[in-house]
Amino acid sequence: MTMNAIPTISHWIDGAAAAGTSTRTAPVFNPATGQVAKNVSLASTADVDVAIASALAAFPAWRDTSQAKRQSIMFNFRELLNARKGELADILTAEHGKVSADALGEITRGLEVVEFALGMPHLMKGDYSENVSTGVDVYTLKQALGVVGIISPFNFPAMVPLWYFPIAIAAGNTVVLKPSEKDPSASNWMAALFTEAGLPDGVLNVVHGDKEAVDALLVNPAVQAISFVGSTPIAKYIYETAALHGKRVQALGGAKNHMLVLPDADLDLAADAAVNAGFGSAGERCMAISVIVAVEPVADELIAKITERMKGLKVGDGMRGCDMGPLITKVHRDKVASYIDVAAADGAEVVVDGRGIEVDGDASGFWLGPTLFDKVGTDSAVYQDEIFGPVLSVVRVATYTEGLDLINSSQYGNGTAIFTNDGGAARRFQNEVQAGMVGINVPIPVPVAYHSFGGWKNSLFGDAKAYGPAGVAFYTREKAVTSRWLDPSHGGINLGFPQND
Ligand code: NAD
Repeated sequence: MTMNAIPTISHWIDGAAAAGTSTRTAPVFNPATGQVAKNVSLASTADVDVAIASALAAFPAWRDTSQAKRQSIMFNFRELLNARKGELADILTAEHGKVSADALGEITRGLEVVEFALGMPHLMKGDYSENVSTGVDVYTLKQALGVVGIISPFNFPAMVPLWYFPIAIAAGNTVVLKPSEKDPSASNWMAALFTEAGLPDGVLNVVHGDKEAVDALLVNPAVQAISFVGSTPIAKYIYETAALHGKRVQALGGAKNHMLVLPDADLDLAADAAVNAGFGSAGERCMAISVIVAVEPVADELIAKITERMKGLKVGDGMRGCDMGPLITKVHRDKVASYIDVAAADGAEVVVDGRGIEVDGDASGFWLGPTLFDKVGTDSAVYQDEIFGPVLSVVRVATYTEGLDLINSSQYGNGTAIFTNDGGAARRFQNEVQAGMVGINVPIPVPVAYHSFGGWKNSLFGDAKAYGPAGVAFYTREKAVTSRWLDPSHGGINLGFPQND
């Protein structure tokens, strides 16, 4: 390696860094400087198969490790992660670009799931029915599946893996995690930390890669289940392909989240919420608010309040105490920026144009400032597409019903929010809206770890949500045992179907 050689991020297999055999790599940028900071190995099918073999070999011993021992290792992991979260936050900012406070927030939400997984001895308890027939008892056991595959997106490089692997591992499964190749280091860091916490080798493996690595996970018969988070077309592909290969699948997709603002809402609260939820993490959140549905006559006043707040946002390097960082890649930045021309061409009003803003950072970073459109037509690609950037659209409607119908006609149903002071309207909304997660005067209603996360329609394929009770159900399978300890008087031949007596 020469002095200036760019390091290559390797896989993490069987408790150690592993280079793999593939020679393919992808660049990992620092989005705040626009420079390639590292390269990442892109696993071949053979590399993924090695990781799966490691997880498969580790499974029997891990499944049979006592609940108490598994819990104590998880507890060590929680303590280490909490103590060293600043290191992880720096990794997130360096590769994703999100500002330090937001990176720490993501880790805190991930820690919540680790803490939930600490309760696995309780969560895995089965049921017991005594004497269902004379001398016969029935009880259920919850058991691990085996090797599970996890495929995660770029926008939460720590939190989304943490939605999944702590619960899978606490339940006795072993894991092959394939994080986004755009910001891969967080997963290696967490896997090494878990090893330090006492996790046996092979229980948590990380392979980096693209479609080839993903496909290797989807078709390998040793993999029992696939957990996925990413864009809708890929989520659908994952759901179909993994199911075709006999696996259980949870596949969470993209979103276009609407915030309905009723005329009686507290408009200062709504404006704060719109700005926080629209521009936090540069809009690269699956629960970002991207459409404000303003029920007239509030639009003009609400837009004025939002615009005022946007002026105060500091965009720049996430390490420098800014409010909003860069976008993930140049290609993505350019694509998001192109919607500004589309909006204008389609007749929307460009209230704030985020191009060419002044930033506190390197001019070569992937910058786009907060952008606001008004009077967006629902036929426009600006309304239809998941833009996934710091772009907020306002659609004006005349009534609650018109707003509700608009939200319910979306192909997505991830999150949504209503802002109102009318409890009856809020209650009606929670009942009538077609989305998996609903906020009432809360713009980003990401459920806490002991509930489950997931959308409806094209935001989730299948019926399995992430973490919480749904996560426990996903990573365990139930076995029903019918047991009779024979009373010597209770024998005899009977060819009939078992019945109760
Ligand atoms: P993406 O779909 O491009 O990638 C997600 C994962 O799939 C990555 O690991 C990637 O390597 C892999 N992948 C990409 N193309 C593939 C292909 N052709 N075949 C097989 N695998 C492939 O998503 P992204 O850009 O990393 O993340 C942003 C998207 O994720 C947005 O659509 C966002 O809404 C969504 N998301 C959804 C949730 C949710 O909970 N519903 C949460 C976070 C992000």
